Parts: sequence; structure tokens; C-alpha cells
Amino acid sequence: KISNMDQSKKKGKEEAEEKGTKVEGVSRNKSKRDELFKFDEEHINVLEAEKPWDKNVKHFTHTKVSALAAMKMLKHSLSGVKKAAEKGGKPHEVMGLLLGKPEGSTIIIMDCFPLPVEGSEAKVVADDEEVQSFMIELSESLELTRKERFIGWYHSHPFDVSTDSHCFLSSTDVSTQLMWQRVLDPKWVAIVVDPLRSLAKQEPQFGCYRCYPPNHSPPQHECPDGSIEVDQKLRHVRWGATFNRYYSMEISYFMSSLGSQMLDIMARNHLWIRVLGSASFMELENRQRFAERVKANSSKLEVGEYASRYPSARKPQLPSGTSDA
Ligand SMILES: [Zn+2]
Repeated sequence: KISNMDQSKKKGKEEAEEKGTKVEGVSRNKSKRDELFKFDEEHINVLEAEKPWDKNVKHFTHTKVSALAAMKMLKHSLSGVKKAAEKGGKPHEVMGLLLGKPEGSTIIIMDCFPLPVEGSEAKVVADDEEVQSFMIELSESLELTRKERFIGWYHSHPFDVSTDSHCFLSSTDVSTQLMWQRVLDPKWVAIVVDPLRSLAKQEPQFGCYRCYPPNHSPPQHECPDGSIEVDQKLRHVRWGATFNRYYSMEISYFMSSLGSQMLDIMARNHLWIRVLGSASFMELENRQRFAERVKANSSKLEVGEYASRYPSARKPQLPSGTSDA
């Protein structure tokens, strides 16, 4: 009996191995994705000893944001829009801190925490005492449970929906970011969320940036994304007046293989999740566009009524050569 069990175990193992080789590409991808969740203290110690960011002002080129952090940032930014919409005022800018770790030339954002400030673009918050004491308190309590450290901040730019994204650093943001890069951590990153554009595009609109040290001057007319824009006005509209004091990092999102598997199953098997998810996401925009839609429908009705009353009026509008017989 025992040998039978052993055999069946062995068979199961072989089958699993066979499956493993069949989906090798997928499982390798999976393990790579899940590695982002591991905390490699040794690697971080090596980085901290070598400080490659001191030698290259653009050392950090990528940011990987966990789905959890992205969702929390977006939700927080949208709450600033909704709160103001209820009161009939301008959308609030919100801000918070990013928890994460460096990996080579990438900053990995695992989680984020809202700060109790709803600022305006004109205010530098880096030296705000209330913010500082909150940050110290929060990081002390997190040190007990998490290995990652604060490695950046995020804030929202809920200005309007125009042709350009509002993901950029204003001159105030540059001062804040530069101070934090110097005082808190040279690896510090800044994420800017454009909540209104995210709503309109139905996908997160984030930008991630780092500042140059004051003595560094990038090539003339170079924008943070590396493009050259000779038109000063266009540069300022898209990237702000301090366009040459910071650069943008590539941003991507990740999820654990288990999380993505679960989401995949839920999305496939339960269509209602998709319907419900997109409906609540669209809620604010729907509400705002309600009047527009009523107007459009009523003018359609008017046209219909006119056409039914005066059927002959329709004829001259038909393209030549067509017959309505
Ligand atoms: Zn800003």
C-alpha cells in the first residue's frame, strides 16, 4: 500500500514537472513578477554602499508600481475631486507617501499612505511641521511591520481635462522634491496623478519624476521626457516653468501572480464585476455629462418630431442618387 502511495505521489510529481515545462515561459514570468515582492536586503546594502545615483544624475530610469499602490493613489486623488464636487468648489489636490525599495536602476513602489494635507500648488509642504511630524510617526509605526522604507511622495493635479496631461512638476513641486532628495533620501521619487484624465481615459495617468542636482544642466530645450522642444510656450504648458530641473522615469505596474490569477478568474466568470467596476468609476463623469446628454437627446427628439410632421422636409437632405421609395 505504501509503495502504491509513493508511486502515485511520484506520478503526480512527474505530471507537475511536465506541466511545468509546458508552461515554462509563463511560470518563469510568474516567478519574476513575484520576486518584486521579496525584500533583498543584501542587494540594497550593496546599492547603499556604492551609491550609483551620486555618479549618474539619471541613474534611476524606471518605477514599478504595485497594483495596490496604484489603486490607492487613484482612489485618494479621486476623493479630492469628489469632495470638492459635492461642495461645488475646485477639486482638491491630495498628497501622500510612497513605500518601496530600490532595485538596480528601478524604484519599486509597494504601497502608499495618504498625508493629512490637502494643499494647493503654491505651497511647499516639505518644511511643513505638521507634515513632518506625521511622517516621522508613520514611518516609526511602519518600521515595526514592514521592511520597505518611504522612498517618495505622490500628489494629484486635478486641474481639468485638456489635450495635454497634467503630469509634471510645478516649480513648487521641484522645490519640495529637491529638498526631500537632499534631506530624506537621495533615491526619493515624485509621482503626479492626473485624476480627471484618468477618469476620461479609463486608465491611471501617472507620471514619475526625479530632480537634477542644482549644478547639473541638461541639454538646451530638453524636456523631462528627453524630447527637444524649441517652442518655449509649449515646453512650459506641458512641463511647467522648471521643465529643465527634472526628468521623467518610465512607469509600469505589477501584481502578484496569485492576485492577477484571481482577478482574471473574477473578470472572466463574473461579468458583473466588470459592469459594476466601470459603472462606479464612471459615476462622476456620468453625473457631470448628464445635462449634456439630456440636451443631445432632446434635440434628437425635436428633429424626429419635425421629420414626422413634415415628411417632405426630409427629401432635400438625402444625398443625390438615393431613393427613399
Ligand atoms: Zn504639483
